[in-house]
Amino acid sequence: MKEKRDCKIVQDLLPNYIEKLTDEETNMYIEEHLRECNECKKVLENMQKELSLKTNKRDGREVKYIKKFSNKMKVLKFILLVLILIYICVVGRRIFIMVSLLEKSKENKLYDNYYAKLYSYQGNLLTITESYNKGEDYLTTITRFGNGNQIHKITYYKKGSEKLFLTEFEEKKYIQDSEKMIDGHILPITYLPDGILTNILEAFITGVDSAYCNGKESYVIKVGSYERYIDKETGLAIREIQKSNKNDSKKTDVVIDFEYKFNTVTDNDIIKPDITDYSVVN
Ligand SMILES: [Zn+2]
Repeated sequence: MKEKRDCKIVQDLLPNYIEKLTDEETNMYIEEHLRECNECKKVLENMQKELSLKTNKRDGREVKYIKKFSNKMKVLKFILLVLILIYICVVGRRIFIMVSLLEKSKENKLYDNYYAKLYSYQGNLLTITESYNKGEDYLTTITRFGNGNQIHKITYYKKGSEKLFLTEFEEKKYIQDSEKMIDGHILPITYLPDGILTNILEAFITGVDSAYCNGKESYVIKVGSYERYIDKETGLAIREIQKSNKNDSKKTDVVIDFEYKFNTVTDNDIIKPDITDYSVVN
């Protein structure tokens, strides 16, 4: 009877004993009992078996979880790789477009016979620049209008060794010192950086889209607050928009439209301006 009661106590203690939670004195008591009691020994063995089974199961679950996690990581890595590849393709396309436009613009800048016309709009102001260029000769006028009225006009003329530099402000017309005259050639422009390397670097930060502008197939290149439309055929500027700060209501967008004609300028386009109304400025 006493033994039976000991068994009950020992078996109650066994779970803690297995987990090594019992103190030395208790351990000695249990072990002493186990040496003499086969029943309790069996119970201990069963408990130990069960525990190791449970542990195996738990380990299995952990392995499964780790596998699942590493699969997720694989998927993420794959998605990241795809995104990087897409980005490389996008940037690669931009580089290709920008560099080929640059090459085209270089060809078209080589013409020494061309006509250029620029319209620059900002609010009520309009500036029209018109330039006939033939070899070393040119006739360029820059006229500024406000609300449709002419404000001022500058004329640059050069034919052979003859030069004229004229200014017109309201009703006052002056012949300026032609030695102080700047080169009146209006060169065809592209909005692409000059070097291929710079274009490659810029391709990372600019947006390049196809667009239709002023009746021409173009690429629009967006950098900061600038939108620049470049002719697909010539690589030259068609339009530039300088977006104004939206928080500043006083400022308005600046829009510049470009027009070029090549190999159409004749000597009759570069005619000396009539200077009868002009007075000389010293
Ligand atoms: Zn026992």
